[in-house]
Amino acid sequence: MSNIENFQELQERTRDNNRFYEIFLEIESAKLEKSKDQLKELMRAHLNDMKVSIKQGLSNPQLSVSGMSGTDSVKVVERYDKGKKLPMNKLFGKILSYALAVIEENQRMGKIVACPTAGSCGIVPAVVVAYAEEFNISEEMQINSLFTAGGIGKLVAQEVPLAGAVAGCQAECGVGSAMAAAAIVELMSGTNDMIINAAALALKNTLGLVCDPVAGLVEVPCVKRNAFYAIHAVSASELALAGVETVIPMDEIVVAMKQIGYLMSPDLKESSDGGLATTETGQSIAKRLEKLWFENK
Ligand code: SF4
Repeated sequence: MSNIENFQELQERTRDNNRFYEIFLEIESAKLEKSKDQLKELMRAHLNDMKVSIKQGLSNPQLSVSGMSGTDSVKVVERYDKGKKLPMNKLFGKILSYALAVIEENQRMGKIVACPTAGSCGIVPAVVVAYAEEFNISEEMQINSLFTAGGIGKLVAQEVPLAGAVAGCQAECGVGSAMAAAAIVELMSGTNDMIINAAALALKNTLGLVCDPVAGLVEVPCVKRNAFYAIHAVSASELALAGVETVIPMDEIVVAMKQIGYLMSPDLKESSDGGLATTETGQSIAKRLEKLWFENK
């Protein structure tokens, strides 16, 4: 099967009710010269790695080398364990803690699945695993949802490089959130149009998100941002499942994201020359870590 160029083509190819994940599976199967079963096995391994990173993250609440992150996921879990339930439901707490657990594991140099990047690695696993647990969703459907998420990310990446250094955090946590929103709709058996709408609503509402990491490390704001944008994905999927549609088509949103990325100052694209990185506290953390680095050299 030939590649898909954009979201409009994707929608046209699924008019006969083929699910998105089936189309993506066929394309990847042809491109990589692997059977669909082989690709499903590979995705099963990725899903397993995601689950392990959540478990590891929650059972290993140690600070990262910089001391800026590493113990927030268990704070959310403890809030539940103490019976002080969040005003929402268990799913909400799981998504927050799972997203933090994965990205905190990343900060400790543990194994994660970049989806789409390491800086946004907590968003997709958090929603897929939490929904699967809370709604008792089969492993096969979880794998399908990851193909859907991956396909959405791939189509965006064909137009814009998914890197904070190129287009800001909208291209990392923004796209991660769009992928996660699409995955949720897949898990909830929404229609193909709902999947696109969910991805579009999520991405559209991250446009302009800058990349200004403190001390050049993928920790502040990145770690907590994963929790926020996992919940953002839930909002987008809920709206789409309710029938809310995007006014601006997904392909145009992606073009807008690219334009905004190129208009964004280089100071706000992973250089740590602006934004949070240049706050008084951000600079003092950078100086402390620089000193530490030279002492241990
Ligand atoms: S702020 Fe920058 S480094 Fe951090 S997750 Fe976003 S794009 Fe990546």
